[in-house]
Amino acid sequence: MPNLLIVGSSNTDMVVSSPTLPRAGETLIGTDFLVNPGGKGANQAVAAARLGGRVTFVTRLGDDSFGRQTLAQHTAERIDTRYAELDENLPSGVALITVDAAGENTIVVALGANAALSPAQVDRVSEWSAFDYALTQLETPLATVAHLAARCRAAALPLVLNPAPAAALPDDLLDGLYLITPNETEAEVLTGVPVTDAASAARAAASLRARGVANVVVTLGARGAYLLTDEHDLLVAGRAVTAVDTTAAGDTFNGALVVALAEGADWPAAVAFANRAAALSVTRPGAQASVPHRHELT
Ligand code: ADP
Repeated sequence: MPNLLIVGSSNTDMVVSSPTLPRAGETLIGTDFLVNPGGKGANQAVAAARLGGRVTFVTRLGDDSFGRQTLAQHTAERIDTRYAELDENLPSGVALITVDAAGENTIVVALGANAALSPAQVDRVSEWSAFDYALTQLETPLATVAHLAARCRAAALPLVLNPAPAAALPDDLLDGLYLITPNETEAEVLTGVPVTDAASAARAAASLRARGVANVVVTLGARGAYLLTDEHDLLVAGRAVTAVDTTAAGDTFNGALVVALAEGADWPAAVAFANRAAALSVTRPGAQASVPHRHELT
Protein backbone atom coordinates (compact mmCIF):
# COMPACT_ATOMS: atom_id res chain seq x y z
CA MET A 1 0.00 0.00 0.00
CA PRO A 2 1.52 3.36 -0.96
CA ASN A 3 2.19 5.87 1.81
CA LEU A 4 0.83 9.30 0.95
CA LEU A 5 1.28 12.62 2.74
CA ILE A 6 -1.64 14.94 1.99
CA VAL A 7 -1.64 18.50 3.30
CA GLY A 8 -4.71 20.66 2.87
CA SER A 9 -8.06 22.08 3.83
CA SER A 10 -11.05 20.58 5.60
CA ASN A 11 -14.42 22.29 5.49
CA THR A 12 -17.95 21.49 6.51
CA ASP A 13 -20.32 22.23 3.63
CA MET A 14 -23.77 23.39 4.69
CA VAL A 15 -26.11 23.13 1.75
CA VAL A 16 -29.62 24.58 1.59
CA SER A 17 -31.94 23.99 -1.36
CA SER A 18 -34.02 27.01 -2.28
CA PRO A 19 -36.51 27.73 -5.11
CA THR A 20 -34.38 30.72 -6.15
CA LEU A 21 -31.14 32.27 -4.94
CA PRO A 22 -31.79 35.01 -2.35
CA ARG A 23 -31.13 38.63 -3.26
CA ALA A 24 -29.47 41.00 -0.81
CA GLY A 25 -31.76 41.50 2.17
CA GLU A 26 -34.16 38.77 1.10
CA THR A 27 -35.21 35.84 3.30
CA LEU A 28 -36.45 32.72 1.52
CA ILE A 29 -37.92 29.51 2.85
CA GLY A 30 -35.77 26.68 1.49
CA THR A 31 -36.32 22.95 1.49
CA ASP A 32 -33.54 20.48 2.23
CA PHE A 33 -30.58 21.12 4.49
CA LEU A 34 -27.50 18.92 4.29
CA VAL A 35 -24.26 19.03 6.25
CA ASN A 36 -21.49 17.42 4.21
CA PRO A 37 -17.78 17.01 4.85
CA GLY A 38 -15.75 18.92 2.25
CA GLY A 39 -12.67 21.00 1.52
CA LYS A 40 -10.31 20.11 -1.31
CA GLY A 41 -7.68 18.64 0.98
CA ALA A 42 -10.16 16.42 2.80
CA ASN A 43 -11.88 15.34 -0.42
CA GLN A 44 -8.53 14.33 -1.93
CA ALA A 45 -7.48 12.54 1.26
CA VAL A 46 -10.74 10.56 1.29
CA ALA A 47 -10.37 9.75 -2.42
CA ALA A 48 -6.79 8.53 -2.00
CA ALA A 49 -7.74 6.44 1.05
CA ARG A 50 -10.77 4.82 -0.62
CA LEU A 51 -8.75 4.09 -3.76
CA GLY A 52 -5.94 2.24 -2.01
CA GLY A 53 -3.56 4.71 -0.37
CA ARG A 54 -2.36 4.78 3.23
CA VAL A 55 -3.04 8.46 3.83
CA THR A 56 -1.53 10.76 6.45
CA PHE A 57 -3.56 13.98 6.33
CA VAL A 58 -2.19 17.24 7.72
CA THR A 59 -5.08 19.64 8.22
CA ARG A 60 -6.29 22.27 10.68
CA LEU A 61 -9.75 22.40 12.20
CA GLY A 62 -11.45 24.40 14.91
CA ASP A 63 -11.78 22.98 18.41
CA ASP A 64 -15.53 22.80 17.87
CA SER A 65 -18.19 20.23 17.00
CA PHE A 66 -17.48 20.45 13.25
CA GLY A 67 -13.78 19.93 13.84
CA ARG A 68 -14.26 16.92 16.09
CA GLN A 69 -16.86 15.45 13.72
CA THR A 70 -14.51 15.86 10.76
CA LEU A 71 -11.68 14.13 12.61
CA ALA A 72 -13.99 11.23 13.44
CA GLN A 73 -15.02 10.99 9.78
CA HIS A 74 -11.38 10.91 8.66
CA THR A 75 -10.63 8.19 11.18
CA ALA A 76 -13.60 6.20 9.88
CA GLU A 77 -12.00 6.46 6.40
CA ARG A 78 -8.80 5.00 7.89
CA ILE A 79 -6.93 8.26 7.36
CA ASP A 80 -4.06 8.86 9.78
CA THR A 81 -4.85 12.15 11.53
CA ARG A 82 -1.90 12.27 13.93
CA TYR A 83 -0.75 15.58 12.41
CA ALA A 84 -4.23 17.09 12.16
CA GLU A 85 -4.63 19.86 14.73
CA LEU A 86 -7.57 21.57 16.43
CA ASP A 87 -6.99 25.33 16.64
CA GLU A 88 -8.08 26.82 19.94
CA ASN A 89 -8.67 30.29 18.53
CA LEU A 90 -10.35 29.75 15.18
CA PRO A 91 -13.51 27.94 14.09
CA SER A 92 -13.52 25.05 11.63
CA GLY A 93 -13.74 26.05 7.97
CA VAL A 94 -17.28 26.14 6.60
CA ALA A 95 -18.84 26.63 3.19
CA LEU A 96 -22.37 28.07 3.12
CA ILE A 97 -23.96 26.88 -0.09
CA THR A 98 -27.36 27.73 -1.55
CA VAL A 99 -28.58 25.68 -4.52
CA ASP A 100 -31.61 26.76 -6.56
CA ALA A 101 -34.10 24.64 -8.50
CA ALA A 102 -31.96 24.90 -11.67
CA GLY A 103 -28.83 23.66 -9.85
CA GLU A 104 -27.24 27.12 -9.84
CA ASN A 105 -25.47 27.91 -6.58
CA THR A 106 -23.86 30.58 -4.46
CA ILE A 107 -21.04 29.63 -2.10
CA VAL A 108 -19.40 31.59 0.68
CA VAL A 109 -16.40 29.96 2.35
CA ALA A 110 -15.11 30.99 5.76
CA LEU A 111 -11.62 29.48 5.89
CA GLY A 112 -11.42 29.52 9.70
CA ALA A 113 -8.61 27.31 10.95
CA ASN A 114 -7.50 26.41 7.39
CA ALA A 115 -5.98 29.90 7.18
CA ALA A 116 -3.73 29.03 10.14
CA LEU A 117 -2.28 25.79 8.75
CA SER A 118 1.31 26.99 9.11
CA PRO A 119 4.79 25.96 7.97
CA ALA A 120 5.41 25.07 11.65
CA GLN A 121 2.56 22.55 11.55
CA VAL A 122 4.09 20.97 8.42
CA ASP A 123 7.40 20.79 10.28
CA ARG A 124 5.75 18.70 13.00
CA VAL A 125 5.57 15.85 10.46
CA SER A 126 8.39 13.42 11.17
CA GLU A 127 9.80 10.54 9.12
CA TRP A 128 9.53 12.18 5.71
CA SER A 129 11.32 9.19 4.24
CA ALA A 130 8.28 7.01 5.05
CA PHE A 131 6.19 8.65 2.32
CA ASP A 132 6.10 7.75 -1.37
CA TYR A 133 4.26 10.85 -2.64
CA ALA A 134 2.91 14.13 -1.28
CA LEU A 135 -0.19 16.00 -2.49
CA THR A 136 -1.48 19.48 -1.74
CA GLN A 137 -3.78 22.24 -3.07
CA LEU A 138 -4.22 26.01 -2.69
CA GLU A 139 -6.93 26.25 -0.01
CA THR A 140 -4.27 26.74 2.67
CA PRO A 141 -1.77 29.63 2.91
CA LEU A 142 0.67 29.92 0.01
CA ALA A 143 3.59 30.21 2.45
CA THR A 144 2.68 26.76 3.79
CA VAL A 145 2.46 25.30 0.28
CA ALA A 146 5.88 26.79 -0.52
CA HIS A 147 7.32 25.41 2.72
CA LEU A 148 5.91 21.97 1.97
CA ALA A 149 7.49 22.13 -1.49
CA ALA A 150 10.87 22.93 0.08
CA ARG A 151 10.56 20.11 2.62
CA CYS A 152 9.58 17.65 -0.12
CA ARG A 153 12.54 18.73 -2.25
CA ALA A 154 14.91 18.24 0.69
CA ALA A 155 13.45 14.78 1.35
CA ALA A 156 13.37 13.82 -2.37
CA LEU A 157 9.61 13.27 -1.93
CA PRO A 158 7.70 13.89 -5.17
CA LEU A 159 5.07 16.60 -4.60
CA VAL A 160 1.86 16.84 -6.61
CA LEU A 161 0.28 20.31 -6.56
CA ASN A 162 -3.37 20.59 -7.53
CA PRO A 163 -3.43 24.39 -8.06
CA ALA A 164 -7.03 24.88 -6.96
CA PRO A 165 -8.67 27.30 -6.44
CA ALA A 166 -7.09 29.13 -9.35
CA ALA A 167 -4.21 31.46 -8.51
CA ALA A 168 -1.09 32.77 -10.18
CA LEU A 169 1.99 31.17 -8.60
CA PRO A 170 5.56 32.38 -8.11
CA ASP A 171 8.28 30.85 -10.29
CA ASP A 172 10.24 29.56 -7.32
CA LEU A 173 7.30 27.39 -6.26
CA LEU A 174 6.91 25.91 -9.75
CA ASP A 175 10.63 25.38 -10.34
CA GLY A 176 11.48 21.81 -9.33
CA LEU A 177 7.86 20.76 -8.69
CA TYR A 178 7.27 17.10 -9.57
CA LEU A 179 3.71 17.41 -10.94
CA ILE A 180 1.03 20.09 -11.32
CA THR A 181 -2.60 19.23 -12.15
CA PRO A 182 -4.58 22.34 -13.17
CA ASN A 183 -8.05 22.22 -14.73
CA GLU A 184 -8.75 24.48 -17.71
CA THR A 185 -9.42 27.63 -15.69
CA GLU A 186 -6.46 27.09 -13.40
CA ALA A 187 -4.14 26.41 -16.36
CA GLU A 188 -5.20 29.72 -17.91
CA VAL A 189 -4.69 31.67 -14.68
CA LEU A 190 -1.23 30.09 -14.26
CA THR A 191 -0.04 30.62 -17.82
CA GLY A 192 -2.22 33.21 -19.55
CA VAL A 193 -3.03 30.60 -22.24
CA PRO A 194 -6.81 30.16 -22.63
CA VAL A 195 -7.36 26.38 -22.38
CA THR A 196 -10.32 24.90 -24.24
CA ASP A 197 -9.01 21.69 -25.82
CA ALA A 198 -6.01 19.36 -26.01
CA ALA A 199 -4.00 21.69 -28.29
CA SER A 200 -4.34 24.68 -25.96
CA ALA A 201 -3.74 22.43 -22.93
CA ALA A 202 -0.49 21.36 -24.61
CA ARG A 203 0.58 25.01 -24.95
CA ALA A 204 -0.24 25.77 -21.31
CA ALA A 205 1.53 22.59 -20.16
CA ALA A 206 4.63 23.45 -22.18
CA SER A 207 4.72 26.87 -20.54
CA LEU A 208 4.55 25.26 -17.07
CA ARG A 209 7.36 22.87 -18.00
CA ALA A 210 9.40 25.86 -19.17
CA ARG A 211 9.00 27.28 -15.64
CA GLY A 212 10.54 24.16 -14.14
CA VAL A 213 7.61 21.82 -13.41
CA ALA A 214 8.74 18.30 -14.30
CA ASN A 215 5.35 16.86 -15.26
CA VAL A 216 1.98 18.41 -16.13
CA VAL A 217 -1.55 16.96 -16.26
CA VAL A 218 -4.29 19.37 -17.38
CA THR A 219 -7.77 18.03 -16.61
CA LEU A 220 -10.28 18.72 -19.36
CA GLY A 221 -13.63 17.71 -17.85
CA ALA A 222 -15.47 15.04 -19.87
CA ARG A 223 -12.66 15.01 -22.46
CA GLY A 224 -10.24 13.53 -19.92
CA ALA A 225 -6.77 14.91 -19.25
CA TYR A 226 -3.78 16.07 -21.21
CA LEU A 227 -0.41 14.64 -20.09
CA LEU A 228 2.99 16.21 -20.72
CA THR A 229 6.21 14.66 -19.37
CA ASP A 230 9.68 14.03 -20.77
CA GLU A 231 8.32 10.93 -22.48
CA HIS A 232 4.63 11.55 -22.97
CA ASP A 233 2.64 14.17 -24.83
CA LEU A 234 -0.93 12.99 -25.20
CA LEU A 235 -4.61 13.35 -24.40
CA VAL A 236 -5.79 10.50 -22.17
CA ALA A 237 -9.47 10.29 -23.11
CA GLY A 238 -12.10 10.47 -20.39
CA ARG A 239 -14.88 7.96 -19.86
CA ALA A 240 -18.24 8.77 -21.44
CA VAL A 241 -20.74 8.83 -18.59
CA THR A 242 -23.99 10.59 -17.77
CA ALA A 243 -22.92 13.34 -15.41
CA VAL A 244 -25.19 13.88 -12.42
CA ASP A 245 -22.97 16.07 -10.22
CA THR A 246 -19.39 17.05 -11.04
CA THR A 247 -18.62 18.27 -7.49
CA ALA A 248 -15.29 16.78 -6.38
CA ALA A 249 -14.48 15.33 -9.82
CA GLY A 250 -11.12 17.10 -9.72
CA ASP A 251 -10.50 16.00 -6.13
CA THR A 252 -11.26 12.37 -6.97
CA PHE A 253 -8.97 12.65 -10.01
CA ASN A 254 -6.07 13.94 -7.91
CA GLY A 255 -6.48 11.38 -5.13
CA ALA A 256 -6.66 8.58 -7.69
CA LEU A 257 -3.71 9.86 -9.72
CA VAL A 258 -1.36 9.99 -6.75
CA VAL A 259 -2.39 6.48 -5.64
CA ALA A 260 -1.72 5.05 -9.11
CA LEU A 261 1.63 6.85 -9.45
CA ALA A 262 2.69 5.69 -5.99
CA GLU A 263 1.76 2.13 -6.92
CA GLY A 264 4.17 2.41 -9.84
CA ALA A 265 1.70 2.71 -12.72
CA ASP A 266 3.19 4.37 -15.80
CA TRP A 267 1.96 7.86 -16.64
CA PRO A 268 -0.76 7.07 -19.20
CA ALA A 269 -2.10 4.23 -17.02
CA ALA A 270 -2.13 6.45 -13.93
CA VAL A 271 -4.04 9.20 -15.76
CA ALA A 272 -6.47 6.63 -17.19
CA PHE A 273 -7.10 5.29 -13.67
CA ALA A 274 -7.74 8.84 -12.43
CA ASN A 275 -10.14 9.46 -15.34
CA ARG A 276 -12.04 6.28 -14.48
CA ALA A 277 -12.33 7.16 -10.79
CA ALA A 278 -13.41 10.76 -11.52
CA ALA A 279 -15.92 9.67 -14.17
CA LEU A 280 -17.54 7.34 -11.64
CA SER A 281 -17.72 10.19 -9.11
CA VAL A 282 -19.62 12.44 -11.55
CA THR A 283 -22.33 9.79 -11.98
CA ARG A 284 -23.28 10.19 -8.32
CA PRO A 285 -24.45 13.17 -6.26
CA GLY A 286 -22.39 14.82 -3.56
CA ALA A 287 -18.73 15.52 -2.86
CA GLN A 288 -17.09 12.89 -0.64
CA ALA A 289 -20.28 10.80 -0.92
CA SER A 290 -19.57 10.35 -4.65
CA VAL A 291 -15.94 9.26 -4.30
CA PRO A 292 -15.56 5.61 -5.37
CA HIS A 293 -13.84 2.77 -3.51
CA ARG A 294 -11.10 0.75 -5.17
CA HIS A 295 -13.22 -2.36 -5.63
CA GLU A 296 -15.60 -0.36 -7.87
CA LEU A 297 -12.80 0.26 -10.37
CA THR A 298 -11.45 -3.21 -10.93
P1 ADP B 1 -12.54 20.22 -11.89
O1 ADP B 1 -13.58 19.31 -11.33
O2 ADP B 1 -11.41 20.48 -10.98
O3 ADP B 1 -13.08 21.46 -12.54
P2 ADP B 1 -12.42 18.83 -14.44
O4 ADP B 1 -13.78 19.39 -14.77
O5 ADP B 1 -11.35 18.96 -15.47
O6 ADP B 1 -11.84 19.41 -13.08
O7 ADP B 1 -12.64 17.29 -14.08
C1 ADP B 1 -11.61 16.51 -13.53
C2 ADP B 1 -11.65 15.12 -14.12
O8 ADP B 1 -12.90 14.52 -13.83
C3 ADP B 1 -11.53 15.06 -15.64
O9 ADP B 1 -10.17 15.02 -16.05
C4 ADP B 1 -12.25 13.75 -15.94
O10 ADP B 1 -11.39 12.64 -15.67
C5 ADP B 1 -13.36 13.73 -14.90
N1 ADP B 1 -14.61 14.32 -15.40
C6 ADP B 1 -15.10 15.55 -15.13
N2 ADP B 1 -16.30 15.76 -15.75
C7 ADP B 1 -16.57 14.60 -16.40
C8 ADP B 1 -17.66 14.15 -17.22
N3 ADP B 1 -18.72 14.96 -17.49
N4 ADP B 1 -17.59 12.91 -17.74
C9 ADP B 1 -16.53 12.09 -17.49
N5 ADP B 1 -15.48 12.45 -16.73
C10 ADP B 1 -15.50 13.68 -16.18
